[in-house]
Amino acid sequence: MRIRNLIKTFQPYEWELSIIELAKKYGFPPDKILRFDTNTMPYPPIKLLEELKQALPNLQINEYPETTYKELREALANYLGRNIDEITVTAGCDEALDIIAKVFVDSETNVLVSTPTYAMYRVTVEAMGGKIVQILRKPDFSDNTEKLIEAVNENTRLIFLCSPNNPTGNLTSEETVVRLLEETDCAVIVDESYAEFCSQTFINLIDKYENLIILRTFSKAFSMAGARVGYIISNKKTINLLNLMRPPNSLTVISLFLAKKALENLDWMRENIKKIVEEREKLIKIINKIDGVKVYPSYTNFILTKFLRKNVDEIHQKLLENGIITRNVSSQPLLENCLRITVRKPEENNVLVDTLKKILGG
Ligand code: PMP
Repeated sequence: MRIRNLIKTFQPYEWELSIIELAKKYGFPPDKILRFDTNTMPYPPIKLLEELKQALPNLQINEYPETTYKELREALANYLGRNIDEITVTAGCDEALDIIAKVFVDSETNVLVSTPTYAMYRVTVEAMGGKIVQILRKPDFSDNTEKLIEAVNENTRLIFLCSPNNPTGNLTSEETVVRLLEETDCAVIVDESYAEFCSQTFINLIDKYENLIILRTFSKAFSMAGARVGYIISNKKTINLLNLMRPPNSLTVISLFLAKKALENLDWMRENIKKIVEEREKLIKIINKIDGVKVYPSYTNFILTKFLRKNVDEIHQKLLENGIITRNVSSQPLLENCLRITVRKPEENNVLVDTLKKILGG
């Protein structure tokens, strides 16, 4: 077969082991494995699923979904206080990244990424043949605005920011976003996948800046990672541009139904956020008390945890052997000896803490 040249050396996105793989490898029953690596919510949307059950006989699964996703965009416009022309719906935030790469990236295009951050920015840009330029964050993980601006040249078309950032958990400052929007002619992408966990958003800047593109998802705060619904918010002109590359039918009628219902049940989502934020603060305090461990502050539903004494690969491995999956991010710059840990239910977090203590004490 004659595949594209770049595929021969392509570095794909890497996951931790799946529950099925881990269960097989270590001989655990799959339901005993705890996932602290995916930054999802531990509360399934039972009420929405009940509503889906009622609605299922009348859902037109034999037909394609309405391709402009108008009803969901209307509900989102209402949720965000924006106009529906400023929103396009995607199959998760990851499809939004694909669409952006298809619109902006040629071979030879440079894309700046404030590093370390979510790996899919690199994957989608490189898949289009573009070149990633990593601009290292400062030691406190804030974006290096000066260096980002300095790195822009005639080939630079996109700058990726993530706020709160995965995996560091900190926010991008408004000053950084505005400076990049004003001082460069690049599209500035702000991935706000975790925005509901903090009170910050840059959505209102789209009135002033055509080159600002905001990404959101139902995968995190709304407990719907399995439904695959995301959306993009930008100026109407930029949305029209992105729609040129949007596949017409990538969402299912079931996902669209669930997302609309989720927006009718905002109180449920907000209660869950409150519980996770409270639990996060408790977890940070408890883990920080363990000798040789440091947890960074977080504005989201995961914590970046640094192990000062023991080898982090060994800790990650021992956790796996105890049926606990965390995200090993320690090979990334600035993240030496770090694991990223999702905040889950109190009883699950207790198992994590007890296991960590056992591993570190032994
Ligand atoms: N952006 C960030 C920062 C993420 O952490 C993730 C998922 N881990 C995504 C996007 C992908 O989200 P989705 O499930 O909507 O594709």
